[in-house]
Amino acid sequence: MLFSAELSGRSFTADEFAQLEWPPCPVCGGKLSVQRIDITMNADDEARNGRSYIAGLYECEHHCDLRTGQRVHYGQSFRSGGPDLGDGIECTCSCGDVRILARGEVRAWQDVHQVPGERGTSR
Ligand SMILES: [Zn+2]
Ligand SMILES: [Zn+2]
Repeated sequence: MLFSAELSGRSFTADEFAQLEWPPCPVCGGKLSVQRIDITMNADDEARNGRSYIAGLYECEHHCDLRTGQRVHYGQSFRSGGPDLGDGIECTCSCGDVRILARGEVRAWQDVHQVPGERGTSR
C-alpha cells in the first residue's frame, strides 16, 4: 500500500474526508487527488451516522501510473523565441517535466518522454 494502514479500511464523514492531507505522488512528487467513495449503506445508516466515505483510487495530477511507479507521457509542447528563453526551447511534458533545453538536446528529451503509441514514428 502507498499510504498508512489507518486510511485503508477506515471510513470518514464528508468533513473529515475534506480535511485529509494526502502525501505527494511517490513517482513525481506532484499532487495526488483521491477518489471519494460513498459507502453509506441505506437511509437508516445515514440518519444514524451521516454519510460515510472511504478513500478510493489515487490519481496523480500528472497521470503517473502508481502501480508500476512510472511516469506517463501524454504529450509535449514546446515554446521558443520568448525573451526569457534566449536560444533555448522550453519543453513541457504532461508528466510534469518542464525544462529549457538547447536545440540539440530536445531530441534526447523527447526520447525519454515518448508518448505511448507514437513509438517509432518518423517525422
Ligand atoms: Zn505523479
Ligand atoms: Zn514526460
